Formats: sequence, C-alpha cells, structure tokens
Amino acid sequence: MEAELDRGVAEPGLDHPGPPVRVRVESLAPFQRLAANPFLVFLAWLAAFVLIRHGIRSVRLGWFLAGLTIGLLAPLLLQCHCLDCGATIWPPRRQRHACRAVSARAAAGRARRFPFPSLTLQFVIWTLALALAAGALMLHRLGG
Ligand SMILES: [Zn+2]
Repeated sequence: MEAELDRGVAEPGLDHPGPPVRVRVESLAPFQRLAANPFLVFLAWLAAFVLIRHGIRSVRLGWFLAGLTIGLLAPLLLQCHCLDCGATIWPPRRQRHACRAVSARAAAGRARRFPFPSLTLQFVIWTLALALAAGALMLHRLGG
C-alpha cells in the first residue's frame, strides 16, 4: 500500500513545506496511536433496548421496529480518536489517517513507542467492561 503522508501545517522557520511525501508502507497501523470510543454505539443500543422493550410491552410495532433499526445501525457510530492530533475517525477509514505525527513515524520507519492495544482489542475490552457493568446493574435491580 502506498500512503500519501501529510507534512502537516507549515510553521515559518521550522518547516520546509513541500509536496506530500509518498512512502510505501504495508499498513499505517504500527505508526498510529488510536483510542477506541464506542460510547455512542452503547448509547444507541441502550435507546434501542428501551424502544424494543416499550414496543413489546405496549404491543406497538412502530416502536419495536424503530428500536430494531437503531440497534442494527448503531455500529456505524463507532469512533476512534487519534492521540497525536485529536482527530475523530470512523474505524473503517483509519488506514487513511496519516497526520503529521503518524507521517513522521512512518517516514522514519519508527513504530509507536510502546505496544498500544489494537483498535479491535480496545473495542472488545470496552464491550466486555460495559457488558459486565450492565449485568451488575441488572443483578442489583433484581436483588433490590
Ligand atoms: Zn492524527
């Protein structure tokens, strides 16, 4: 894969602006520092759960279908954030993100400093943590 790397914002006296640098790299992933943000998805799933439950209890197909639709489309709300530039990125497009810091690491062939967990692993950890929290809340409600 050939990635066009951003040279960043030109700073007079510090940078030498020029055309984008083209570097052949298999993947930009080893050079990116991305933090997963699944909270909008979980919020949408919570809304879907409430709508579906309300639809079933009140026997209204519209509420049920609205909840089902929101629940199925919720994964589109997944986000991740670049820890270098703060950009919000849709995970399927993360391979295109090459901000100044990522570009510099890729051009130098230097991977990020420490083994940062992959985005998939971060999403799995968040999902497990929030599922455990939801389970604990449900147990608490049943017990009290
Ligand atoms: Zn960035």
